[in-house]
Amino acid sequence: MKHQLLDTYGRVHKDLRISITDRCNFRCSYCMPEDGLEWTPREELLTYEEIERLSSLLVTRFGVESIRLTGGEPTVRANLSDLIARLAKLNVDLSMTTNGATLSLAANRLKEAGLQRINISLDSLQRKRFAELTRRDNLEQVLEGISTATQVGFDPVKINMVVMKGINDDEILDFVEFGRREKVVVRFIEFMPLDADEAWDQKRVMPLSEILEIISKAHGLIPVERGNSPAARWRYEDGAGEIGVIATVSDAFCDSCDRIRLTADGKFRNCLFALKDYDVRELLRNGADDDQISNLFVHGVKEKWAGHQIGKSVFIRPSKSMSQIGG
Ligand code: SAM
Ligand code: SF4
Repeated sequence: MKHQLLDTYGRVHKDLRISITDRCNFRCSYCMPEDGLEWTPREELLTYEEIERLSSLLVTRFGVESIRLTGGEPTVRANLSDLIARLAKLNVDLSMTTNGATLSLAANRLKEAGLQRINISLDSLQRKRFAELTRRDNLEQVLEGISTATQVGFDPVKINMVVMKGINDDEILDFVEFGRREKVVVRFIEFMPLDADEAWDQKRVMPLSEILEIISKAHGLIPVERGNSPAARWRYEDGAGEIGVIATVSDAFCDSCDRIRLTADGKFRNCLFALKDYDVRELLRNGADDDQISNLFVHGVKEKWAGHQIGKSVFIRPSKSMSQIGG
């Protein structure tokens, strides 16, 4: 019989995010410092066998239904399609978030290995601004990656745009038109206090209300049922697709959060903003059996808080940044 990963607020957890590396070929200013971070040594990363074992346990024993691979940049990890093929056998909704820089070469292989859905991060459609934001001059490669992802049949392809006031908020409508034209779903993400440079400022957050105000002046929008999605969703009245807004700061979705996380170095986390994590890798490498590992998951979820406190004086920033936790 299946058990549930149930917390004290009645939330059942079925959505697993796995960071498979903290390394990255980009240095986005809202995520990583210009010089990068100290990468986790390879021997400390969960192996593909370990990731498969933990995922399988979470699926078969606890009914986890979806797995998203992230990082750092997941495509920098060697033989990624091997991991995807292993996880595809678990019959879950299998997806990945990537910066898209190498997708034009890799998308087909990943699709054939069993990857079902893909989210690609893109914060500017202007070459100079893209290069400033990511500290890499790769806009063309990312656009090619998006186009290849669509061509090989990922559907829908979603684009993640982190909107920052005074930095790229003037491109919201350009992204709307890009999404409608390329038939991809654009998801606007509020800037979160998880940048390694700790330059986050509430004044830079473009709230959901302002994003919607801009878009609805150009297009009629009809709300769509969001279910457990972190994104509030709308479809265009004229049928040309949909948009989403992830309003972690202005309209937190903690009440319906069903997400758990594994970091690249094998820590279990019950919240993106958690101040504590649980060392699964140590258990695994000390020969723990499935019951012992399950106990860690059950205990870790039980200790989940009601929600984060961003914007309030009691908020404490996690010591790890987005790329180290896995966005
Ligand atoms: N490297 C991959 C990528 O960029 O898509 C996957 C990892 S990245 C940490 C996952 C997502 O987190 C990306 O969509 C990125 O834009 C988002 N992200 C990173 N730092 C953020 C921040 N401070 N606030 C909001 N979103 C952020
Ligand atoms: Fe790398 Fe993704 Fe962070 Fe950009 S957002 S630095 S691509 S991990």
